[in-house]
This record gives sequence, C-alpha cells and structure tokens, in this order.
Amino acid sequence: MAIWDVIVIGAGGVGSATAMHLAKSGVRTLGIDQYSPAHDRGSSHGQTRIIRQAYFEHPCYVPLLQRAYDLWGELEQHTNQKLFHRTGLVEIGPADGIVIPGVLHSAMTHDLPIERLSPADIRERWPGIDGNNDWRAVIEQNAGFLKVEQCVQAHLAMATHHGCDLVHNCGVHQWSSDSREVKVTTDHGVEIAAQLVIAGGPWTHSLIPELSTSLKILRKHLYWFQPESDGFQEKNGFPCFFHETANGFFYGFPCIDGTGVKIARHSGGQPIDAPDLDSSTEITTDSEDRKLVIDYANDYLPGLGSTLVKTAKCYYTSTPDEHFVIDQLPGHENVCVVAGLSGHGFKFASALGEIASNLALRKDIPFEIEPFAIKRFS
Ligand SMILES: Cc1cc2nc3c(=O)[nH]c(=O)nc-3n(C[C@H](O)[C@H](O)[C@H](O)COP(=O)(O)OP(=O)(O)OC[C@H]3O[C@@H](n4cnc5c(N)ncnc54)[C@H](O)[C@@H]3O)c2cc1C
Repeated sequence: MAIWDVIVIGAGGVGSATAMHLAKSGVRTLGIDQYSPAHDRGSSHGQTRIIRQAYFEHPCYVPLLQRAYDLWGELEQHTNQKLFHRTGLVEIGPADGIVIPGVLHSAMTHDLPIERLSPADIRERWPGIDGNNDWRAVIEQNAGFLKVEQCVQAHLAMATHHGCDLVHNCGVHQWSSDSREVKVTTDHGVEIAAQLVIAGGPWTHSLIPELSTSLKILRKHLYWFQPESDGFQEKNGFPCFFHETANGFFYGFPCIDGTGVKIARHSGGQPIDAPDLDSSTEITTDSEDRKLVIDYANDYLPGLGSTLVKTAKCYYTSTPDEHFVIDQLPGHENVCVVAGLSGHGFKFASALGEIASNLALRKDIPFEIEPFAIKRFS
C-alpha cells in the first residue's frame, strides 16, 4: 500500500483528464477504474462527441468551453494526433424554440462567430440536411466533433507520462474520509490519500448514495446509417447537425472511417437504476426510440436512407436542471465530485479535469462554478 496525494475514482471522460492534470502538477496520483478505459460500458464511447461554443444551454458555459478548446488543442499537440475535427455544426429549429434563441444569446453574449441562415440556404449547401420552411438555422464553423475513445486514451497516456499510477479492471467498493485522509477500498486492498476525486459517471449513485436522488441514469441509443450518397462524408464537407423538432432534439455526425452517419435522439431515454452489466446492444434496443430516430432521418436527412448498420448504447447521468455537478462533497472537505453531466459533458472533459485537479489541490479556479454546486438540490 502506498500513500497518495490524490486518488481519482473513474478513468473515463472526466477522470482521465483529472488524472492527467494532477500528475502534471507533480502530485502522487492514483487513478482507478473498474474496467479498462476507453471501454464501452459507461458514458464515453461510440466514436464521436459534438463540441461547440455557442452554447444554447446557457452562456455561463462558454468560458469553460473556451478553456476546453485550448486544452484539447494542447492534448492534440502533446500526443501528436487529431482529436478535434472542425467540421462545423448546423443547428436548425423554430425561431422561438430553445436551440436557436439559446445559440444566438450565447453567441451575442460572448461575441462568437456564427452564421444565420434559412433552412433553404442549408439545403442548397448540404442537400442531406433539411428543416421546416418556417424554421431558422445557424452554422457554427468553429464546432465539430471529438473522437471520444481517442480523447480518453490520450489523457490516460499523458497521465502516465507525467507519473500517474493507473489501475484498470479494479472496482472501488467503498471509501471513507476524515479530516486527515481518505481511505478507498478496492478489489486489490485499501489505498490511502490526502484527497479524493470521484468521477464515476453513471456509477456515481453507488459511490455517493446521498446524490442518488439528484441524479437520473438514462439508457440512450446510437444509430449508424449507411448513406445512399457520398455527400454525407466528412471528407466531402458534410458537417455535424442538430435539429430541434416537435419530437425532441436529434443530432448527428458526418460519415467517418467508413462506419456510416451516426444519429441519436438527445431527448428521452430509458430511466434505469444502474448501468447494464452487459454491454451488448441487443437486449435493450428501444423500438420506440429507434422509430423516432428513423422518422427523424426520413423527415430531415434526405438521401440518408434507412440502412441501419450498427447500434450502441450509452448512459446519460442527468440532474434535475441538466446542469453539471462540480463541487466539494458537503461534509467531506477532502472529497470532490464531477458528475451529472446530463448528456452534454464530454466536450468539457479537458477543462473539467483541470478544475477537478485544482479543487483537489486547493488552487484558484478562474471560472464561475457556483451554478454547479450541490447545494442547489437541497
Ligand atoms: C449517447 C451519448 C451521446 C453523447 N453526446 C455528447 C456530445 O455529443 N457532446 C458532449 O459534449 N457530450 C455528450 N455526451 C455526454 C458525455 O459523453 C458524458 O457526459 C461524459 O462522457 C461523461 O464522462 P464521465 O467521466 O462522467 O463518465 P464515464 O466516462 O462513464 O466515466 C466513469 C468511469 O468511472 C468508472 N467507475 C465508476 N464506478 C467505479 C467504481 N466503483 N470503481 C472503479 N471505477 C469506477 C467507470 O468504469 C468509468 O470508466 C453523450 C453521452 C452519451 C451517452
């Protein structure tokens, strides 16, 4: 048994970045994961994640995103690979909906470049993307997608490079803290540290039962369709897309690596008590969700067709207001938590790792994290 400065539970999207930032600061860091990341059992898999700055959810996220962009860029440089594909993002929906007014508000508040268009303009540029004639559209050229598994692996590679000890396939059964230290009991024994960061994604309930009433786990599905034309290829300039429709929010990505166009429904999801033990997609395919996704493709992605080539499942961990949890755990001054990313957190992972590291090391955090405090649930 070693004595650590900081233990990080979870080496997924957030935990991998946290481990890297801690190790880079020169502290003795242990990262523990019950599986071997980047695995397909939690929330950070399925090829791609959208990244954007004109954030319709709230303008308070934009400074965090600007930092996240810088840090993804540094990660690309340090690992000498392309993680962020700047394809641009088309967002389409009603002028008085949630997405279009929200994008415009964030763009105006933070002076972000976006282009305003009509659905007809979009059809002319990309015949594979459609929208109702009375809707509005915006393009954010500085948006695109992250290669999700490669991002996790890159953070873990840099964490190891900076001296972090990573233990995979090792479950944490319980932890405790007092004013001097934290004790973490794993499959391999007890580890002791001065500080603990919990980045357990959809398993946060079992690690922090007092948060379980504020976190809802949703099983979500991803669908890859083989398009009928080459127009949907990233290499031919096809962008990411996000529609606000009467049936909810839907989004997707251009064809990359010969796997088809990936689309999914951001709304909805099946509430569950805990992530499935089995990562197979067959047992959980949600026929209602699949029908809504196929209808969406038929209505708004002309020429995509309905040749479904692959599906996958993944989990959202959602808070009641769909804003994140980034905080020290009340009653445990040496434990902090990043959770409840509510289906939109991956793009922030690089910055969330830095924030979690700074929280654990009692360093200043140059961002407003008050909106993400746990006390808002009480
Ligand atoms: C279908 C889908 C689409 C999404 N699309 C987007 C998008 O386009 N853009 C975007 O920004 N975000 C998106 N998100 C959200 C984003 O992917 C998640 O918010 C993010 O990946 C969550 O990362 P995490 O580190 O919290 O969880 P995870 O990556 O799941 O990491 C948690 C880790 O903790 C480990 N762990 C948990 N409990 C224990 C334990 N007891 N012992 C040891 N290890 C443990 C797990 O094994 C896991 O590796 C999407 C999510 C899904 C599911």
